[in-house]
Amino acid sequence: MWLAYRNSNSKDAKLLPEDKKVRLLGWIASKREHGKKIFISLRDRYGYIQLVANKDQLPEDVFTNVKEAYLESAVAVEGQIKKDPRAPGGAEVHLSNFIVISKSEEWPITLSALKSPEFLFDKRHLTIRGPKSRAVMLVRAALLKNAIDYFIKNDYVWIQAPTFITSAVEGGATLFPVEYFGRVAYLTQSAQFYEEAVICALEKVFVVQPSFRSEKSRTRKHLTEFWHIEAEVAFASHEDIMKVEEELLSHMINKTIEEMSDEINFVRKGKLPSSLEPPYEKLSYDEAIFMLQKKGFDIEWGDDFGAREERALSKMFDKPFFVTGYPVVTRSFYHMKDPNRPEVTLSSDLFAPEGYGEITSGGQRIHSYEELYNKILEMGLNPEEYDWYLEIRKYGMPPHSGFGLGLERVLTWLLKLPHIRDSTLFPRTPARLHP
Ligand code: ATP
Ligand code: MG
Repeated sequence: MWLAYRNSNSKDAKLLPEDKKVRLLGWIASKREHGKKIFISLRDRYGYIQLVANKDQLPEDVFTNVKEAYLESAVAVEGQIKKDPRAPGGAEVHLSNFIVISKSEEWPITLSALKSPEFLFDKRHLTIRGPKSRAVMLVRAALLKNAIDYFIKNDYVWIQAPTFITSAVEGGATLFPVEYFGRVAYLTQSAQFYEEAVICALEKVFVVQPSFRSEKSRTRKHLTEFWHIEAEVAFASHEDIMKVEEELLSHMINKTIEEMSDEINFVRKGKLPSSLEPPYEKLSYDEAIFMLQKKGFDIEWGDDFGAREERALSKMFDKPFFVTGYPVVTRSFYHMKDPNRPEVTLSSDLFAPEGYGEITSGGQRIHSYEELYNKILEMGLNPEEYDWYLEIRKYGMPPHSGFGLGLERVLTWLLKLPHIRDSTLFPRTPARLHP
């Protein structure tokens, strides 16, 4: 239809020589009148370009169309490239034709509306057209692509796991029940158990899909639906998996910085972290507790970090770092004990610096049937609920390790967003299910 009309876009057009004719498609992002001229900022998938409508050089009906078009109308325009240092990007298009393909009503996102974050999220289906959302989504897409790129390059197999499940990976408290033909099913919290089954066929696997957590704690880093990047590796130790995590994170971020530096600089306040090259520092859980106590936090060995402690610890670093060796009491049942120190697990979290906190959790899983069976009983859980997960351990389950990374957590830190909901198009939180 209109696609064939377009012969350039807002980015390439600026590089064309003076007087070159272009035909563009897009939306009116802003408009102002100045004497006999109307200036429009045209937005398309590639960015913005300035259009100039001159009353003396346009047929009257075309100039009237320009004058009367509301913001966000979808338009097809034709004109000549003119170099002008005053125009954003150094070039503008002097219009010879202007067609409204689909008109807009008066745009509801007024300057005063910008002051109400709740209103902006109620109108998210419209506000995502703005320059900041655009930049965030482009960086997000690049991060995800580069994560997948890391795994493919390193010979992992991309697998898919079910969304309807019957038992909890990360504790029953955050499960979302769903009515399932007269039974109760739950939405998945993690694909880890399925990955563990599959490694006996494929050895190195990864998953990229949403996880669901009914998080009652309404913090700035929790969504009820988030994109989970998980990997599981047969024959890998806890040390091996930490290496994978740091390589993945640095690959994702460094490549994304390379590809999206304009977008990142547009959103992020302040300099980028100076070096993201691994290896990352490994702080033991014991040391972390000691550092927090020294800062005056009321925390004891065996406690999990609360949001405040996590932020404080993360602020002490300017590069990602691991916290290793979490106590058995703080971790889920499947975590392997450290053979040299049975009160702690072979597990770790990778933290973002600058106050952002946990972005991955990983470690070595128990691979012995008996040990896992006893641990399930010890934690007051029902082995029947974990029947197949236990059974895979009867048939040659090797030692293995894995981890999960939250895409939105990485993006929130990389762009220093004020809230995790800003990192996703249509956020899901306890208070928000619409649009
Ligand atoms: P937290 O302690 O921050 O609530 P968790 O330890 O419960 O997270 P894990 O089960 O370790 O989460 O999940 C692996 C990763 O998935 C986390 O490190 C985090 O990056 C991401 N993640 C977990 N829960 C959420 C959530 N509600 N919203 C966004 N990302 C999440
Ligand atoms: Mg965790």
